[in-house]
Amino acid sequence: MEDYLERLKKGSLKLYALESELPPEEAVRVRRIYIERETGTDLSATGSFTIPIDRAATKNCENMIGAVQVPVGVAGPLVVKGEYADGSFYIPLATTEGALVASVNRGCGAITRAGGAEVRIFRDGMTRAPVFAARDIPHAREICDWVAAHREEIAAAAESTTSHGKLTGITTTTGGTSVFVRLEFDSKDAMGMNMVTIASAKAAGVISAATGARLIALSGNFCTDKKPAAVNLVMGRGRTVAAGIFLPDDLIREVFKTDAGTLAEVNLRKNLVGSARAGSLGYNAHAANIIAAIFIACGQDPAHVVEGSLAITTVDPAEGGVYVSVTLPSLPAGTVGGGTGIATQHECLTLLGVAGGGSPPGSHARKFAEIIACAVLAGELSLLGALAAQHLARAHQQLGR
Ligand code: NAP
Repeated sequence: MEDYLERLKKGSLKLYALESELPPEEAVRVRRIYIERETGTDLSATGSFTIPIDRAATKNCENMIGAVQVPVGVAGPLVVKGEYADGSFYIPLATTEGALVASVNRGCGAITRAGGAEVRIFRDGMTRAPVFAARDIPHAREICDWVAAHREEIAAAAESTTSHGKLTGITTTTGGTSVFVRLEFDSKDAMGMNMVTIASAKAAGVISAATGARLIALSGNFCTDKKPAAVNLVMGRGRTVAAGIFLPDDLIREVFKTDAGTLAEVNLRKNLVGSARAGSLGYNAHAANIIAAIFIACGQDPAHVVEGSLAITTVDPAEGGVYVSVTLPSLPAGTVGGGTGIATQHECLTLLGVAGGGSPPGSHARKFAEIIACAVLAGELSLLGALAAQHLARAHQQLGR
């Protein structure tokens, strides 16, 4: 140990190189002790964890020193009536926001009492959009025309890199001499960013070679990954999924202490008019809260909450109640790859019956997306209900602090 610490101090051993000399567990321990000594910080809590780190320290996190722990609660049971998720589920939510789990739990109760949320997936496609430089405007048009006429050739190149991914769409757009080719893939059970990036590199090579387009960057931001973007709201990214529930008047009164008209008015004035006036890309109350908590619990890339938050909540007046829905145009989520294999995250996916690859491939990720949409619906319902009954501040006072 002291020998390694001394070499780190002298600079003859780099922090990141510890795993090349030591087993992962030991490398993480030495690195943590080095940082503790260098900074005078006690990291013993960070160093106390249960997850096996053989893969985590080499595939998920460089320069690992330990793990932070986030409390996980469950909301449910939540009855879901989807094409892939059909049954009753306990939703794992990793959060430090007091009142969040209680709120989602209340929404789950209302949905379950009302017979369960209906949910459907409308499209499926993870995207990557390389940016190319054209010589001039006519050349930019030539590149777009060539891409449109050679879809099969581009697909064959892209799909040669993966045994699961399938190219499902190509959209081109330009800005001056910059040409963007937005490639969309069915990534099956993977969220797909690594898969699609590798496949896009191959496709970009074919486009460059055939057209003389100069590849500038494999990601040209027309993808759009991890930035709020209208293109994802309009065209979708990851899975586009929508869930809805009819709530009868008596249930609204009993559970939410309000009525159908007030619920609809709060949604209209807050989620629709308020969001429009604010120039928001999300027309919802707090979809990001539920998505973030499920993503952290289930080993998703938390930065994709940005895409997930582009949700629209609607409350339609209906005979004897209201029909409440959420539409998530852009939900990147997967059950294999990324952080899904880490022991605690894997357990949370197992709790939902979606850990690992599905049979057929894609069915687990689709089931997962359906469950997430229904959980978001539960969260939206509960917060709308609390606002309608003027209970929001009181709930946070009682539960959050
Ligand atoms: P991944 O960790 O690369 O694993 C996905 C691979 O699992 C697939 O490519 C596939 O291999 C294999 N696989 C096995 N069973 C499968 C099944 N049933 N369905 C689909 N694939 C299956 O994961 P990823 O989802 O592609 O990428 C997620 C990671 O990318 C996250 O860690 C995220 O943080 C990171 N990320 C990367 C970028 C980037 O630009 N590279 C950007 C944002 C996030 P085959 O392809 O060989 O079939």
